[in-house]
Amino acid sequence: MIGSNQNELERDEKIDVLHSIPFFIVHAIGIVGPFFTGISKVAVVVALSLYFIRMFFVTGIGHRYFSHKSYRVMVCPKVTQGLMAFLFTTCVQKGAVWWASHHRHHHKHSDKPEDVHSRKLRGLYWSHIGWILCPKYHSTNEKLVGDLKKYPELMFFERFHLLGPVVLAVLCAILGLWLGPQWGTSWIQMLVVGFFTSTVLLWHGTFAINSFAHMIGSQRFNTGDESRNSFFLAILTLGEGWHNNHHHAQNREAQALMWWEYPFDVTHCIIRIAELAGFVQIKKR
Ligand SMILES: [Zn+2]
Ligand SMILES: [Zn+2]
Repeated sequence: MIGSNQNELERDEKIDVLHSIPFFIVHAIGIVGPFFTGISKVAVVVALSLYFIRMFFVTGIGHRYFSHKSYRVMVCPKVTQGLMAFLFTTCVQKGAVWWASHHRHHHKHSDKPEDVHSRKLRGLYWSHIGWILCPKYHSTNEKLVGDLKKYPELMFFERFHLLGPVVLAVLCAILGLWLGPQWGTSWIQMLVVGFFTSTVLLWHGTFAINSFAHMIGSQRFNTGDESRNSFFLAILTLGEGWHNNHHHAQNREAQALMWWEYPFDVTHCIIRIAELAGFVQIKKR
């Protein structure tokens, strides 16, 4: 029965090459572009900064706030939440509501036939990239995000999710223009390396949790899925690599559990500092 269900699921799971062209173009610019524009120290600093800042937007905003509601915003919650939804769109991973809907679905059916990006059942390539390029998953899983859909400001950024990436790309170009030859850079270099290359890295850093975090590392808890804890992935993803801990206690804000894991859960450290400053309140789980 499970086998026939899986065949049914796989029949309409195909990559749409035509609609995936923007995905390939971003990769081409981000990987090949630097050979044409050259690389300067300042462009590398901006690219790495935008990688880690936006990784925090993915983990601290898209994942721990919108997907799991693991902490509350204490200062102007509605306005701040809208701003957070905008910041999330700069990660070029659609809107926070779309992202949360698929992530919640993953937790509901982890490594079961319904899981859209199970590394165990569908392979490494499908879990890492394939499902993102499949038209079946381009839409939001509405049933799982009723709590988020009621906010019009969130739905605005859901609809105009390309606004954030365009604003960030323009800001990168302006920064390059401003710094200019005296810093060894240019607007095109800052656009290509600062925006596109860091975006490609950010994508694969994020995708690695769907793929490699269900493959490499150790299992502390028997969660009934393949989720694992990986020190290496925790560094790359600001703490998301403690993925087996997370599958064990999904709505707990921190993903580190042992004292030595906390320094490598940078997302938690930032949210805890925000809590000490009175901006947010971590929910007790
Ligand atoms: Zn997982
Ligand atoms: Zn999660």
